[in-house]
Amino acid sequence: MRRFAAIGDIIGGADRAIQHLLLPKSDILFASMNLIGIAMTLGFNPDDVEIPTGHFIGGRFVTAGDSVPVHRPSDRQAFADCAIASAEIVDDAVSTAVKTLKDSGWGRCRPRERLTALHRWADLIEQEAETLGRLEALSSTRPISQVIAGDIPVVAEQIRFFAEFADKEGGELAPTSDEQLGMIRSEPIGVVGAITPWNFPLSMACWKLGPALAAGNAVVLKPSEMTPFSTLMLAALSVKAGIPAGLVNVVLGTGEITGRAITGHPDIGKISFTGSTRAGAAIMANVAACGIRPMTLELGGKSPQLVFADADLDLAAASVTNGIIANAGQVCVAGSRLLVEKSVQDELLAKIQARMSNIAPGPTWDAATQYAPIISETQISRIETIVAAALEKGADLRLGGTRLEASPAFYHPTILSGVDAASPAVVEEIFGPVLTVQGFESEEEAVALADHRSYGLCAGVYSRDLSRTMRVAQSLQSGTVWVNRYGRSRDHILPTGGYKRSGIGKDLGRDAYKSNRRNKAILVDL
Ligand code: NAD
Repeated sequence: MRRFAAIGDIIGGADRAIQHLLLPKSDILFASMNLIGIAMTLGFNPDDVEIPTGHFIGGRFVTAGDSVPVHRPSDRQAFADCAIASAEIVDDAVSTAVKTLKDSGWGRCRPRERLTALHRWADLIEQEAETLGRLEALSSTRPISQVIAGDIPVVAEQIRFFAEFADKEGGELAPTSDEQLGMIRSEPIGVVGAITPWNFPLSMACWKLGPALAAGNAVVLKPSEMTPFSTLMLAALSVKAGIPAGLVNVVLGTGEITGRAITGHPDIGKISFTGSTRAGAAIMANVAACGIRPMTLELGGKSPQLVFADADLDLAAASVTNGIIANAGQVCVAGSRLLVEKSVQDELLAKIQARMSNIAPGPTWDAATQYAPIISETQISRIETIVAAALEKGADLRLGGTRLEASPAFYHPTILSGVDAASPAVVEEIFGPVLTVQGFESEEEAVALADHRSYGLCAGVYSRDLSRTMRVAQSLQSGTVWVNRYGRSRDHILPTGGYKRSGIGKDLGRDAYKSNRRNKAILVDL
């Protein structure tokens, strides 16, 4: 069996000024204010970034086919092209993955060898934080300070977290009679087809790659056509780390062409998708038409935040605000529906409004930027359309409701009150910094209002009454409930995934590893 040795130079990064930023921070979405103090070491000139081109197949960059332009969200300038992989190129990537799995023995080796290679990859990701971070910040909406302080150290940690399952999570012996030996053997699936969205390109790619590789599979991954470049570099670093070339393949392209070719490919054993509910439904239909296989679907959300009168209102105001303005609301778990006990509604809204007026917008490559631009003109127009529709249906505009005057790529944090469950702003996943407000008078009413007819991704509950928080958490129809906080911690063991049309299956946690394996029953007559 082949040993997976590092095959490339590990580029040293110890002398980089950013290294000391790679310290654990409890909040991955908001870089702490002390980052501002070292602003000059993080900011970069967007015209100076070298962009990788083509697909990454078999450890090499391959250029072929048509392309679409990629824009910088901050100023909408087109700065590079994203290739579009045809069905033939996807087939080439899948064949490469199948052959590499067979030749390298990745799925059959001593599991600790996979663990070691994945740890090296995580180390390289941290060492290359500056280059990787710039590629991420250039085409996505992630401000460079948040990528460097949050996204990159967290994805490195998550890869190490999944690596640890490789030699610890296995099958089991079945309780059969003494005349028989029954085994439940856990095996890799083969080739995983992964498709990721634009909002957190590196994180979403690692949520797919980490468990799939640790579990002994190969991957063909398509990032969003709007944010392809950091994922390409991530794949290239996997080869440098000694993960066999051909195990991590990245094909670029649109959902309609490249995505469809992946979800319909007969040699892909599992589909792992993160994106909109609309695309998730199209993928389910294509998978059903082209061949049945397991799927993980991480889809949209319209998550409520329930604030009871006995809550710490300062804490709740800070948390509710962060929950909707982080990445300018372009987060699947955005806490976009505030449900507040009527007796404290005015007091809480005043606190939230004050916090929302304190934003730091700017280009993603500027070190001082904390508030993200909206990814595209299409997306900002969609926000405008839904807000206008809600206002027409009687919503009250408490704050915002427009683009930032000086920067048309940014949308002002917005509060809409006077809405009900039928308001377009309450029904639709807006994917922007728009918070709706509904009042309640009892716990039962709060839980009923929280129940969205389509989505059930996350919820936040704020109260000093432990019994109440647990009663409410148990009643809510959502895959995650945060109590007196809003947002993920670095406890990667907690799975994430939706109820209802927010998805099927889990990313992160033990579930994510297990869903990249399949069980075989073996029964021996002794
Ligand atoms: P999207 O669905 O438009 O695209 C996501 C990815 O799917 C892209 O790579 C796209 O090219 C591809 N795609 C689109 N249609 C496809 C098809 N028919 N077949 C195959 N691939 C297809 O989503 P987006 O705009 O990139 O991202 C925003 C959405 O992602 C939001 O709805 C958000 O809630 C969701 N999201 C969910 C999670 C989660 O963990 N639940 C995390 C992040 C984002």
